[in-house]
Amino acid sequence: MHKLLLLPGDGIGTEIMAEAVKVLDALRQDFPFECETELVGGAAIDACGLPFPDKTRDKALAAEAVLFGTVGGPKWDHMPTEKRAEMGILGIRKAMQLYANLRPIDLFPELESLSPLKAEFIKGVSLIVVRELTGDVYFGRPRGVTGENGNREGFNTMRYHEDEIKRIAHTAFKLARERRKKVCSIDKSNVLEAMGLWKAVVSEVHAGYPDVELSHMYVDNASMQLIRRAADFDVVLTPNMFGDILSDEASVLAGSLGLSPSASLGENNALYEPIHGSAPDIAGKGIANPVGMILSVAMMYELSFGRKDLAQRVREGVAKTLAEGYRTADIMTPGGKKVNTSEMGSQIASRL
Ligand code: NAD
Repeated sequence: MHKLLLLPGDGIGTEIMAEAVKVLDALRQDFPFECETELVGGAAIDACGLPFPDKTRDKALAAEAVLFGTVGGPKWDHMPTEKRAEMGILGIRKAMQLYANLRPIDLFPELESLSPLKAEFIKGVSLIVVRELTGDVYFGRPRGVTGENGNREGFNTMRYHEDEIKRIAHTAFKLARERRKKVCSIDKSNVLEAMGLWKAVVSEVHAGYPDVELSHMYVDNASMQLIRRAADFDVVLTPNMFGDILSDEASVLAGSLGLSPSASLGENNALYEPIHGSAPDIAGKGIANPVGMILSVAMMYELSFGRKDLAQRVREGVAKTLAEGYRTADIMTPGGKKVNTSEMGSQIASRL
């Protein structure tokens, strides 16, 4: 019996989590599980004054995998930074020591018209951004702002330890072996020493994966090539900051924020969540797209439990549902059958 923790969070988080549970239930025979649900984000603030309560942390650390909805919303925006709802996700990433963020971008042919790019530029796109999550300018010290008004200076430090680079490089190469066996590592080694080390260490790790092709690309060029020839990329390996930016750019290719899943992996823990936020503008209306959340369940089956077969069934269920014309409002196309969140989840679950 596998042990899962569900953290629906805020806004549309609760609505899409209900649809993920339908999928888990539909596959229960092949994947028996027990799950608990806990509070995180604004919902936890309302209940106990903290976005990431100890009880939630303890259960997250004890679970084999965590399914996370979304956190945040205007109700909690006035809170001091350390008590904002968003600290729910930052807190859990830190507690679970999640160092690798994986965002696959796969296009559904029937939704091609939703992409901001012309069909000829997105045909055949199937890539995954593997972003390092614990290093870089976001965590490097020293950092701060010094000096008097009129003469102030702000500074951050891009810092990477060799071990951090090795760890994420292994993640990328192993993943590539399951895909088209190509890794493109992103850096800015032409001007930054930390990125020179990144490039060198990725190349060293590559020596252990001779069956995988490695290329290197400067981040400025990568931001262009992702638009011009996204289909050429397979695994895109990035440091923290460049990945933050490039993964958002790449997610636009799919056509709607509501479609994309993600995984955040640690040595012993993993968390799966859609890439979007709590969508306060549509929360409570029952119209959110649950596909990103449901595809996050597929990633969980594959990456936490080695069940590629179940992941494939979920992905095929989503693909069939879309091919048969079912659409939530955000992905409506001419002639599509408009359904709400719950109907979309049920249609997908019924095709598993
Ligand atoms: P958002 O992703 O919530 O919404 C952006 C737009 O996309 C909105 O118009 C929304 O309606 C739409 N959208 C998002 N998901 C959708 C779905 N599944 N189906 C249909 N439409 C969808 O981003 P935002 O408005 O910038 O942020 C709202 C709140 O979410 C903020 O409080 C932010 O801090 C938080 N947030 C949380 C996470 C997280 O929990 N990991 C991530 C990003 C933002």
